[in-house]
Amino acid sequence: MTASKVALWQRELAAAVRDPQALLRLLDLPDGNTSSKAAQQFRLLAPHSYIARMKKGDCHDPLLRQVLPLDDELQVVEGFNQDPVGDQHSVVADGVLHKYHGRVLLVTTGACAVHCRYCFRRHFPYSESNPVKAEWEGALAYIRANPDVREVILSGGDPLTLADERLAVLFRQLRDMPQVTRVRFHSRLPVVLPSRIDASFLQLLHEIPQQTVMVIHANHAQELDADDVRQALAALRAAGVTLFNQAVLLRGVNDSVQAQADLSESLFAHGVMPYYLHLLDRVAGAAHFEVAETEAVRLLETLRKRLPGFLVPKLVREVAGEKAKMPVL
Ligand SMILES: *Cc1c(COP(=O)(O)O)cnc(C)c1O
Ligand code: SF4
Repeated sequence: MTASKVALWQRELAAAVRDPQALLRLLDLPDGNTSSKAAQQFRLLAPHSYIARMKKGDCHDPLLRQVLPLDDELQVVEGFNQDPVGDQHSVVADGVLHKYHGRVLLVTTGACAVHCRYCFRRHFPYSESNPVKAEWEGALAYIRANPDVREVILSGGDPLTLADERLAVLFRQLRDMPQVTRVRFHSRLPVVLPSRIDASFLQLLHEIPQQTVMVIHANHAQELDADDVRQALAALRAAGVTLFNQAVLLRGVNDSVQAQADLSESLFAHGVMPYYLHLLDRVAGAAHFEVAETEAVRLLETLRKRLPGFLVPKLVREVAGEKAKMPVL
């Protein structure tokens, strides 16, 4: 690849912070506030544009908490394990999860633009330096052979970490599948690396004949409070993409009525509808983020009295073997 073909977002991703001490220095925080052992288990990854939205000198910053490796992750807590979602049982072809009616989920890549400490994929064997090599032949053959698949969900990892040339291959194949009426992206990049939504990607979107949906992932209003994020979301909407948000309820990040109300209001102001609020998947290393179900239910009941109904996300949890995300109240 020649230098001129490397997009700005790819350069920004290459320059993302991977060293916990470097992150602390950028935020004027003292050295000791992180865990090298936790970083070895699941390395730190955070783009500069995301770090720019963190408050300096505040080790409780809700964005920092989502990415900074901590000793808390080393605690062994009963009930927290390596594959809490039981996804491995829904794999129907290489990189395809078919768990729910009419929708298949493609694991397009293992890479992400940020490493979220609470992620249930933190123990999965793929890594950012190990991209999926095949051109998804098996996955696409499975969809072709299943006429009741109406919606294809591109997930990962994060599908938008793939270069446009790779996405174009996928879109071209999906274009010729008449039963597929929707293409859905699950991506955190509009929030953590908004430069990804560039002219080249928007052009690709215009070439998709199906309806397009993007479920972004923001957990806190502060994540949306930046001009580049606002512009990326506006550009997606202008390209005809319907935008939803899923969040995870996280202790110390967004476990208050105020934080949830602010998030919903900010999402709507950016043209994004709140969709799911997930209870934490019980993955080993994330126990310190858990909010008890009774507390989550109380929080949502209060939120319902504060906000218009359309701004209240559905509180759900992932239950292995169930045919849908399970409503909690
Ligand atoms: C969450 C999920 C979906 C999408 O579920 P919706 O309720 O339609 O948002 C599809 N497939 C898998 C495997 C999932 O985990
Ligand atoms: S971006 Fe999504 S898949 Fe990637 S680490 Fe964060 S929560 Fe997990």
